[in-house]
Amino acid sequence: MKTFHIITIGCQMNKSDSERIASYLENLGFILAEERPKADLVIITTCGVRASAENRIFGLIPRIRQENPAVKIVLTGCLSKREDIKRRVGNTVDAWMPIGEFSILDSMISGQYPISNIQYSGELRSGEYLNVTPKYSSKHSAYIPIGNGCDNYCTYCVVPYARGREVYRSADDILKEVKGLVEKGYKEINLIAQNVNSYRYDENTRKNANDLSREHADKVDFVDLLKMVNDIPGNFWVRFSSSHPKDMSDELIKILPQLTKVCEHIHLPAQAGDDDVLRVMNRNYTIEYYKALIKKIRQAVPGAAITTDIIVGFPGETREQFANTLKLFKEVKFDMAYIAQYSPRPGTAAEKFDDNVTKEEKKKREEELTAVLRKTAFENNRKYLGKTVDILVEGKNRRGKWFGRTRTDKNVEVKSDKLETGNGEFIRVKITEVRDFGMKGEVI
Ligand code: SAM
Ligand code: SF4
Repeated sequence: MKTFHIITIGCQMNKSDSERIASYLENLGFILAEERPKADLVIITTCGVRASAENRIFGLIPRIRQENPAVKIVLTGCLSKREDIKRRVGNTVDAWMPIGEFSILDSMISGQYPISNIQYSGELRSGEYLNVTPKYSSKHSAYIPIGNGCDNYCTYCVVPYARGREVYRSADDILKEVKGLVEKGYKEINLIAQNVNSYRYDENTRKNANDLSREHADKVDFVDLLKMVNDIPGNFWVRFSSSHPKDMSDELIKILPQLTKVCEHIHLPAQAGDDDVLRVMNRNYTIEYYKALIKKIRQAVPGAAITTDIIVGFPGETREQFANTLKLFKEVKFDMAYIAQYSPRPGTAAEKFDDNVTKEEKKKREEELTAVLRKTAFENNRKYLGKTVDILVEGKNRRGKWFGRTRTDKNVEVKSDKLETGNGEFIRVKITEVRDFGMKGEVI
């Protein structure tokens, strides 16, 4: 029996891809090796969004080889089609597997080594690999990709090149996957795509609409999909991400209060707080529009947590333009933000721009934004003191304490050592302590 191990770098989409690769390999007779040196085959699901993520593979590959010289290494994910990476890594990798092109694994298993030049047979059409049932890494929370790829071409971003054009799964397949999980007792369903709001169920996927009503058979958008997921009977929460501000419709915002399973947390990447920077980033919205969206969300869903992604030090971003991002942070009062220092990406439009904000200045801007974020997050969390909230228990943290997340995605450490229920259960807690990025509570 052959064994495999998977290393995943990057986002939820990569984690989900790895879960599908794991089940594909198990179907081929492989078994999972928890310890990497014991694996005959190591898959690396790579990330190319920033240079720091990309660079991780250069140290990793020789380490894996050193641990087990006979190991076969397959590189997939965002770097799998990058010629510059292939040149750099050379023969130290046994195969390059473009995202979803699992038939490469069949060729490998049938013994065709070296397989670096094996061509994809085209058996799974782009996006169809998402219908491979994953080996879910959690027993209570699952990522469900509703599509893959991106058509937006933000000038800094490598995703449209790495993952290709947008492809969406049929609503029928998505609903089937969610229903199956809910029946197994899953409590959290995370619908994911690069831009969930551009979900559409079009000509290519319509043929799969076997158990959809006629009303839905010719056109399903994200609002329809979310309603249908919400209507699945059972006790579970629904989350979705990422939402591109330009595609978040009023219809979606209006329907949110009626969708009782959909959590009160919206991740809405702003990327910058300045209109000129946004224009050069090709984001297609203004800050006025972004703030109006936040206002509408907060009116529709009072108390909703709002989180964002921000890039600091985009080429040409002046101190004044950055000050507008600081202003946005002070006004919107985000609950959390993923702040990234701009990193030039090969093949993107911005690669040709002058990366003229120094490393030190990028770091300083990141720190300044983080300081504002800590204050606003703490202010928001203070409103929870003394309140009773439901959390979904996720496990034990490093201190050996049970913890979980609220519907608003707040991390809550549970004070008692013993829980009647455990991992993957809903419990009710009273919040007794708050910090900027976490809280503590007592079981009710
Ligand atoms: N589709 C999502 C959206 O538009 O918000 C984001 C997907 S992207 C994989 C995740 C985040 O990485 C982005 O929101 C952005 O903040 C960050 N990112 C992408 N390219 C970057 C770059 N070249 N340098 C720094 N951060 C980058
Ligand atoms: Fe990248 Fe922009 Fe697409 Fe998000 S919307 S994946 S940032 S190109």
